[in-house]
Amino acid sequence: AKRRAEAEEVKDLVPVMREAARQSYLKLRKQKKLDELRDSLEDEAYLFDGVKLTAKEEEDMRFKRKMYELAKERAEDVDAILGYQMPKAYDDTDGKVRQDERFAVANQRYKDVGADDKLNPFAEQEAWEKHQIGKATMKFGAADKKSQDDYEFIFEDQIQFIQTSILDGMKDEEEEKEDEKQIKKLAAKSAFDKLQEDRKMLPMFPYREELLKAVEQYQVLVIVGETGSGKTTQIPQYLHEAGYTKNGKIGCTQPRRVAAMSVSARVAEEMGVKLGHEVGYSIRFEDCTSEKTILKYMTDGMLLREFLSEPDLASYSVMMVDEAHERTVSTDVLFGLVKVFLFNNGSVVMISFVKDITRFRPDIKLLISSATLDAEKFSAYFDGAPIFRIPGRRYPVDILYTKAPEADYLEAAVVTVLQIHVTMPPGDVLVFFTGQEEIEAAEEILKTRTRGLGTRIGEMIICPIYANLPSDLQTKIFEETPEGARKVVLATNIAETSLTIDGIKYVIDPGFCKQKSYNPRTGMESLIVTPVSKAAAQQRTGRAGRTSPGKCFRLYTAHAYQTEMDDNTVPEIQRTNLGNVVLMLKSLGIHDLINFDFMDPPPAETLLRALEQLYALGALNDRGELTKMGRRMAEFPLDPMLSKMIVASDKFKCAEEVVTICSMLTVGNSIFYRPKDKQVHADNARMNFHSGNVGDHLALLKVFDSWKETDFSTQWCYENYIQVRSMKRARDIRDQLEGLLERVEIEAASNPDDHEAIKKAITSGFFYHTAKLQKNGSYRTLKNPQTVTIHPSSGLSQVLPRWVVYHELVFTTKEYMRQVIEIKPEWLVEIAPHYYKKSD
Ligand code: ADP
Ligand code: MG
Repeated sequence: AKRRAEAEEVKDLVPVMREAARQSYLKLRKQKKLDELRDSLEDEAYLFDGVKLTAKEEEDMRFKRKMYELAKERAEDVDAILGYQMPKAYDDTDGKVRQDERFAVANQRYKDVGADDKLNPFAEQEAWEKHQIGKATMKFGAADKKSQDDYEFIFEDQIQFIQTSILDGMKDEEEEKEDEKQIKKLAAKSAFDKLQEDRKMLPMFPYREELLKAVEQYQVLVIVGETGSGKTTQIPQYLHEAGYTKNGKIGCTQPRRVAAMSVSARVAEEMGVKLGHEVGYSIRFEDCTSEKTILKYMTDGMLLREFLSEPDLASYSVMMVDEAHERTVSTDVLFGLVKVFLFNNGSVVMISFVKDITRFRPDIKLLISSATLDAEKFSAYFDGAPIFRIPGRRYPVDILYTKAPEADYLEAAVVTVLQIHVTMPPGDVLVFFTGQEEIEAAEEILKTRTRGLGTRIGEMIICPIYANLPSDLQTKIFEETPEGARKVVLATNIAETSLTIDGIKYVIDPGFCKQKSYNPRTGMESLIVTPVSKAAAQQRTGRAGRTSPGKCFRLYTAHAYQTEMDDNTVPEIQRTNLGNVVLMLKSLGIHDLINFDFMDPPPAETLLRALEQLYALGALNDRGELTKMGRRMAEFPLDPMLSKMIVASDKFKCAEEVVTICSMLTVGNSIFYRPKDKQVHADNARMNFHSGNVGDHLALLKVFDSWKETDFSTQWCYENYIQVRSMKRARDIRDQLEGLLERVEIEAASNPDDHEAIKKAITSGFFYHTAKLQKNGSYRTLKNPQTVTIHPSSGLSQVLPRWVVYHELVFTTKEYMRQVIEIKPEWLVEIAPHYYKKSD
């Protein structure tokens, strides 16, 4: 009887406790609002009254109470304080073990009194708990048990994530509903009207008048605003509407090709004009502008080249240097040039021959726009230019880390996409990869894994986006996702700040990007996959909160974030070969490079190295002045080594062939392809071009010439496992380079069978890149000895000639030479006597 009485007593308590426990968990998970925290504190006090806590738990309870008191005191800062308030005690498995123990105790007590298991309130609680790693620790499907089970049924792999923080946003649920209403209203309008309404909804719009006033008042203005606020697409239009295009164009630079193309297309659409007319873009080897163009989007590299012909930018009334936070070499150099040529307030810089043609430009407006908040640096650099801030408008984003490091981030990313797709509410997904190869691999895996699942999962629309993607496919990422489907965008870091894709709710961040790295001591430049900086990771996270609250899945641990990632990305100018930049500055008449006003000066060693290299190539004389050779080289929008190779081809009477090779090399490594099921065929087809072990450069020449013989047939490409798109691009580049030959007085001679002449021309540009075979089959570079290997994709990887010249080094598992030809050592002395003496 006593037992029964006890059971009755416990039974009465149970629903209350259960409810309290539930509430406490649910509310703690939100962690956002003050009252919820208070409730949870009370719930917790009630639920665990009398349960002995560990010292750590006690400390965390105290911490939480303190945060609560603090937040209450300073009510205006609630978000900041609670945003920071991490669920410390609950972010590790320790929390879970304790949690289980507590329920086990209560469970046991219940069983002890002989109650029916079905009535056991903790059974349900436990089941619910199973889907969590601990309190405030999230695992997929916790809130939606059914789909979690579905998920397990369909896919075996899973990754567990832990939430430890929130990226604060200013918008809340009510605003979300408001936004949705607006969107519905807009859907009814015509496409053009809708675009105009869309423009008015951008965060930038309310600041239109104020911004125009600021532009009028100041010559230089730094503009800061969250990605997607409308800086790139709207500001040039506002300026145009305000009359700035009456006396000149408005230019807007982008660090990336894709961004310049896609953004100009959008602006043309918004203005109701044809792309290439009033609104156009200009990128290397592609000019889509006309006489009519008044808004011109271009890569920052292209603007640099424009300086060569128009150092005062006479045709522009406004220049907007966009995405300045990216700090590309071109942007940094542009800044210095603007100071010298437009404002005449650079430090003591000697300008020789161009000085006469330069008129300084008190009338030009310079806008510098950036997506990150540290704009003070830009402002300081431009003598305290005012900063115009567009308040950020973003929803909060939950940040989730993996519990343990993931060995294979590509695999982990794919698994996470599937997890989200099956278990999470509607919303598009954005995944960051380091490059085209990864994106293609991920796309293929995703397609394989979802094949045959039919209606068991919703439709998944996979959209890749990277620099070399043909423009017709680029627009796919902006298309609206149909009801019931989910868009999965696989992007390089182009989607970090340069492109805004609406509707993204989930971001997956493997935490890596491909970065240039340069060792001035060895003169070696390579592209390596590197962890992103914390600043970049935050940008990526922010992409999830544009149209609604979102989630960001970081495929690394919170510990790695704290300890292994740099705060900011090192500016490119400090980790790249500056041969190009130095040649350009020299041709602009800027001699004193050490005193050139770089925002962050490159290492002196790198500058010296560049001067030395240009001297070795014959572009500079021993006083560091530009030679005739240097002036000719500067005409080509190519790396100095490639330019040299073209100029040198004049002497070897093979300019036609060398220009072809240059174009093929510039296209990159996307000429050949190997479909999975036909690798042997593809490899055989490829080896045809290598017959006679001519070397990779000559094989590329053979590919192009054979294609040309078929009158540029697509069928031929198909039969030979060659990407027709890359070939067309090579043809375009080739046409342009050929056009430049005449300008620098190079005879368009052709000599396809004289391989020695062609190889000598190549060596004239690339004698720096010479390596000699070692006994063990690896190679050693001649100057600054380094061990390197021929890349397996090379036609010479089995042949192993004694002496080779390579096009580039890539570092994967080791340093590989990609695109290799065999040379004779005597050529080095003949071609670069000042660099190689007989004894070498
Ligand atoms: P910011 O430069 O401040 O990052 P943008 O001007 O690039 O912002 O973008 C403003 C808005 O314009 C975005 O929210 C997006 O909806 C839209 N947009 C920009 N580019 C495109 C495009 N190519 N296609 C469709 N919409 C676009
Ligand atoms: Mg932008």
